[in-house]
Amino acid sequence: MAEGKIELSLVVPCFNEAPCVEAFVGAVDAAGLECGGRLEFVFVDDGSTDGTLEIVRALAARDPRVRYVSFSRNFGKEAALLAGLRKAGGEIVATLDADLQDPPALLPEMLRAIRVEGYDCVATRRTSRAGEPPVRSWFARRFYWLMRHFSDVALVDGARDYRMMTRQVVGAILALPEVNRFTKGIYQWVGFRTKWLAFPNVARAAGQTKWSFRKLFLYSLEGIMAFSTAPLQLASLIGVLCCAGAFVALLFVFIRALCFGDPVGGWPSLVCIVIFFGGLQLFFVGILGAYLAKTYLETKRRPLYFIKEEK
Ligand code: UDP
Ligand code: MG
Repeated sequence: MAEGKIELSLVVPCFNEAPCVEAFVGAVDAAGLECGGRLEFVFVDDGSTDGTLEIVRALAARDPRVRYVSFSRNFGKEAALLAGLRKAGGEIVATLDADLQDPPALLPEMLRAIRVEGYDCVATRRTSRAGEPPVRSWFARRFYWLMRHFSDVALVDGARDYRMMTRQVVGAILALPEVNRFTKGIYQWVGFRTKWLAFPNVARAAGQTKWSFRKLFLYSLEGIMAFSTAPLQLASLIGVLCCAGAFVALLFVFIRALCFGDPVGGWPSLVCIVIFFGGLQLFFVGILGAYLAKTYLETKRRPLYFIKEEK
């Protein structure tokens, strides 16, 4: 670690980023940050299997600014970010990806926003989703729409995990004890004065994205469930609507029977209605179960990661 107080910590989650790590350090050095030797890199090796750890270890041996944490296995980006934030010692902390999709060239501008303009936090978002499969973009937009309308946090479309924040904000984030961590929501939820910067989508420097469509879809469900109980309330709403509808239908059947007698009929439609509501009920039992499962996982209080090695 460099001598004296650390001014800026860069928290970098890495999962199989061997081809990117050194290019990343180079790009940060090229960005022209004004904090002298009081910069630190906090690499979090999230159980990589491609030699990322060896590269980071070697880097740390020759560059005193480099520190790292290495997990015992892959615990996911959220856990990696948490470990990095805990380890970071800087007065100002930034989180960014190793693959250069979060351009380090923005760092000086972010630093200025905090030091000179007095913001607590600088967040970034992509202005385009160029190069992304259209289906993925479509689902992403629906997800942000849902979050905007049905959750406590108004997520910004295209928001990245590329952020810079003061020690105070880091403290607030670390004070949230939940196990199911949806970082994008947590940032929004803790508040503070945030400046938004936009930049066009950048392609990965090397390697491959770790997010399959399935992983992203599950991640979005996680986000909705972590910050909204609207799905649970939906059951009550639909239940009330169905009761009202059934009541009107009952009146109709009753009056019709009074006026025209009571011929037996309509069994097929009845069966359809029974199956429909059976399905609807199971669906909501499922939603209930999903929230229950989250509660169960929270009550276990399991650590979010295990560190195998650090410096
Ligand atoms: N990452 C991680 N653990 C994981 C998946 C990803 O630490 O389980 C890191 C990855 O190394 C990268 C960042 O999170 O630095 C973003 O991942 P990626 O570039 O694959 O996502 P994308 O940019 O495609 O959304
Ligand atoms: Mg990426």
